[in-house]
Amino acid sequence: MPTTLAAFDLLDIILWLSYIIGSVTFIFGLKMLSNPETARRGNLVAAAGMTLAIFTTIFLYRTQEEDGSRQHLHNYVWIFSGIIIGSIVGWYAALKVKMTAMPQMVSLFNGMGGACAAIISIIEYQSHYNPEAWNLTAVTMAGMLIGSVSFAGSMIAFGKLNGNIGDKVFPGQTYINMGLLLITVAVGVYITLTPVQNMMLLGIMAAMCLLYGVLFVLPIGGADMPVVISLLNSFTGVAAACGGFIYHNQIMLTGGILVGSAGTILTILMCRAMNRSLLNVIIGNFGGGAKAAAGAKEKGTVKEISLSDAAVLLSYSKKVMVVPGYGLAVAQAQHTVHELEKILEEKGVEMKYAIHPVAGRMPGHMNVLLAEADVSYDKLLEMEDANNEFPTTDVVIVVGANDVVNPAAKTDPASPIYGMPILDVENAQNVIVMKRSMNPGYAGIENELFYSPKTRMLFGDAKATLQKLVSEVKAN
Ligand code: NDP
Repeated sequence: MPTTLAAFDLLDIILWLSYIIGSVTFIFGLKMLSNPETARRGNLVAAAGMTLAIFTTIFLYRTQEEDGSRQHLHNYVWIFSGIIIGSIVGWYAALKVKMTAMPQMVSLFNGMGGACAAIISIIEYQSHYNPEAWNLTAVTMAGMLIGSVSFAGSMIAFGKLNGNIGDKVFPGQTYINMGLLLITVAVGVYITLTPVQNMMLLGIMAAMCLLYGVLFVLPIGGADMPVVISLLNSFTGVAAACGGFIYHNQIMLTGGILVGSAGTILTILMCRAMNRSLLNVIIGNFGGGAKAAAGAKEKGTVKEISLSDAAVLLSYSKKVMVVPGYGLAVAQAQHTVHELEKILEEKGVEMKYAIHPVAGRMPGHMNVLLAEADVSYDKLLEMEDANNEFPTTDVVIVVGANDVVNPAAKTDPASPIYGMPILDVENAQNVIVMKRSMNPGYAGIENELFYSPKTRMLFGDAKATLQKLVSEVKAN
């Protein structure tokens, strides 16, 4: 980039304008993502802004050479090979991925972003090290640290969500993690303040960052995974912003800051939804390890309900609330549940959906699924509103949900989900739980709700059971 104002020309102005347009589309796109009705368009708007920024950078950006001349980028074969291969792989993966495997994919893609940011830092340190620009070196170190942690952590999160890696807790883990992080930061500070390029030390620091990323995520599991994924997402944003600072690239900086802050806000909201403190997340020792703590206490007997009784109960209700969970997503029962809603409404029964913020396996999972089945957005109640409505609800149908309706979160301090706000379905008159067996949900714990006098179980695959239920209700 030129250093004097006079050296700017039309190409620079067009480039900056494209960056401003790109930044505005990111902000509008993000805003639109907050509503299911506009989310799809929001994604396209932000993607269009990103495409504009990428292509104007490729064709209009010019480097400032030592002889004062300015050169366009020239390695187009490399650039377009990367773009084409990445686009094909990304497109194919997004088309093929199952809705239930979405968190794994988010983790994997997020990890790639972190790796890019870390590699940028390493290459910049190697090729453009300037002993006088310690502040640039500091940002480079920060980008490498945060990007590598995000990469390694995301890979472990991917393995865990995919079922390839279990939760691993060993004694003193918190202190080892803290110690490792402190030493890594100290090495980064040393590299920054010593005016000599030291590639070997940088390599050691990179290895330590990767190790920290692995150790940071390994012990986390159970109900706390969404917080970690969202936190790693914000790390990648911050690492990308460091890249923007290194290259003096405004759009990279803006994009990184937006991802970093959006991820941080989501992390805080998720922490609140699951009643976890952010400090616990950062220290990396909570959640899943306590899974076994909540032992299966015998709570009494389980009552079942027949399809015809369930159909009668629903048909003669005034208000029905569906609590969708992970099982609904696995069974792909969203269209069938919408069919049930239409038939009940024809009979004058009001039906709504109670959405817990961490139902399913990713933030917004249930909203996305139900939107796919054309369920009207005004029928989706957030947790607080749903909890207010349960006392006036005749029947709650819990479809493939478990942890998000588990009263242990309120009553059992030994439970790993203790403190997590839940849907108070037991305040309704009747509860019907649809699942295949008495198996636990994600947190691996017993659910007292299934033994409550108000609850009756309707065992079977959610989609098949709902289909039969729809036929029974029609026949009523
Ligand atoms: P849970 O994982 O607690 O329970 C799902 C239930 O669905 C299981 O008990 C299972 O029982 C049942 N099920 C599975 N397949 C089917 C099927 N085909 N038909 C009918 N039932 C089925 O789900 P929740 O949505 O209640 O809770 C989400 C959990 O996931 C929370 O612990 C949350 O913290 C965690 N999580 C959430 C993330 C997010 O961002 N939303 C990300 C990562 C984790 P059975 O086998 O007997 O059928």
